[in-house]
Amino acid sequence: MFVENFALSKVTSLGVGGPADLFISAQSADDVAQAQRFALEKGLPLTVIGYGTNLLVRDGGIRGVVVQIAESLSSAQVQGTSITAQAGCLLGSLAKLALHHGLTGLEFAVGIPGGLGGATFMNAGAYGGEIGPLIEKVEFVQGGRLQSWNRDEFYFAYRSSRLQHEAKDAIVTAVELRLEPGSKETIFQTMNGFQEQRRSKQPLEYPSAGSTFKRPPGHYVGPLIEQAGLKGMRVGGAEVSMKHAGFLVKKDEARSRDFLDLIRQIQETILEEFGIALEPEIRILGED
Ligand SMILES: Cc1cc2nc3c(=O)[nH]c(=O)nc-3n(C[C@H](O)[C@H](O)[C@H](O)COP(=O)(O)OP(=O)(O)OC[C@H]3O[C@@H](n4cnc5c(N)ncnc54)[C@H](O)[C@@H]3O)c2cc1C
Repeated sequence: MFVENFALSKVTSLGVGGPADLFISAQSADDVAQAQRFALEKGLPLTVIGYGTNLLVRDGGIRGVVVQIAESLSSAQVQGTSITAQAGCLLGSLAKLALHHGLTGLEFAVGIPGGLGGATFMNAGAYGGEIGPLIEKVEFVQGGRLQSWNRDEFYFAYRSSRLQHEAKDAIVTAVELRLEPGSKETIFQTMNGFQEQRRSKQPLEYPSAGSTFKRPPGHYVGPLIEQAGLKGMRVGGAEVSMKHAGFLVKKDEARSRDFLDLIRQIQETILEEFGIALEPEIRILGED
């Protein structure tokens, strides 16, 4: 069931990062609970990942057990204005399912490449929308047992949820979303507009992990980096995108170390030039 020494660069959108000691691609919620109990019994750390689209895994990889929740746990059902989906359901598929059923609320999610579990952890959002406010209930495994919370118990805030703080060991397995009835034509047009904006503004032709930094209050990250003259700056194979300076992209061969060095240099320059401390939005996991 476990794969030993699994290269995590194969399952992250940036395509960098060292190995997981033990890797499992979960096929069921029961697999997730079993992996968590195994790690608890053996005293091993456990890390959960989805599609790896918001991750920078360090070159030394991740010790202990890494559980991936992706395609094998991706079913979704619609009932009235509710969609209940497994954590591995892609946001793009969910947005299209909502469109098919004439449900509005998920238009913002159409171009976000990750899954629902990662989106819940991150409170993913775009174009004024966020996943948190749409959530009714979340099922998760904690301490090897299946449990559930409703939205109010998640303390969603900008790119933040309770899962990032005191509930770090909770693994989301399924989420119930509540949408509103809407016009299919309007939903379709809105999604197309968002997709067009992404294609024109984001460097989708290169591997990346999306926006590198959280937006500091009152500022946009891309213009700050650009004003500091860092657009196109490169460390090894990691580059500040020429198309959108808020994205770091992989050019040629790159190591995680290249991205970490570039992130540090950007943070230092922006602090020096503007007095603004940039906080990574991407999740940096593992060891050097
Ligand atoms: C080109 C591009 C564009 C993007 N645009 C956006 C955007 O507009 N808005 C936005 O918010 N994000 C964006 N992202 C980032 C990313 O797609 C989202 O944050 C996405 O929701 C992450 O999902 P994932 O499955 O890839 O999670 P991962 O990257 O695998 O994991 C992210 C975090 O969630 C945790 N996690 C994952 N699954 C679970 C689970 N089942 N239970 C508990 N914790 C879990 C992981 O431990 C990790 O800390 C973009 C990324 C790319 C590459």
